[in-house]
Amino acid sequence: MAVNASAEQQQALLDVQAIDTKLLQVAHRRKGIAEVQQAHDLEVQLGSIDMKIVAAITEVSDLDLDRAKAEADVEQVVNRANRDKERMDSGSVSAKDLSGLQSELESLAKRQSELEDVELEIMQNLEEARASHEALKVQRESVEAELRDVEGKRDEQLNQLAAQEQELNEQKKSVAANLPADLVALYDKVREDQGGVGAALLQHGECKGCHIALDSDELNRIRNLASEVVVRCEQCRRILIRTAESGL
Ligand SMILES: [Zn+2]
Repeated sequence: MAVNASAEQQQALLDVQAIDTKLLQVAHRRKGIAEVQQAHDLEVQLGSIDMKIVAAITEVSDLDLDRAKAEADVEQVVNRANRDKERMDSGSVSAKDLSGLQSELESLAKRQSELEDVELEIMQNLEEARASHEALKVQRESVEAELRDVEGKRDEQLNQLAAQEQELNEQKKSVAANLPADLVALYDKVREDQGGVGAALLQHGECKGCHIALDSDELNRIRNLASEVVVRCEQCRRILIRTAESGL
């Protein structure tokens, strides 16, 4: 179906085109916001720190149980030794039993020392695990603060671009409102097919969309068309806008 529009309306398509080009630039700038990727990377980093924190909490809790068990083991040996000492001190023990008790006390003292070494090692590990948990929490706070900062910068730019986009869309709507709907629909379709440019000047016999010169037969054909006829470039199919500079 042939699309017709006054020369003025056709020329107004170039205004719409200029707005659409600006809209493309806005979209391009949005993709180029470094903080979008930075925020993503920081979120990934935060996720990894959170996993480490969960592991650290588990380790602290496990070591704390080990510590309690080691403490109880030591206590048990100490209690046994105390009972033995009480018996010895009571004076009611035979010479034979006394020797047995002394020998047991020696074993218990050795055992106590071993268990205390175990307890000490657990305490050291627990201290390290707690320190590591604290360090992770500090690291998390720092990464989170950085993320908030980057997100702020990202959102500021996104909001600016969204505002520009909205303004451009309103401008486009207001210009397009004065144009025939089928002309705008054709323009939009060609623009989508042709990398964002739907209408181009015919300047000195050349399509400014694809920068290919029209041959003389085609120029002659266009020259004889009524001004309301919407002309398309034979090469790129863009809408050609005729002006005094078209070389017709
Ligand atoms: Zn062309």
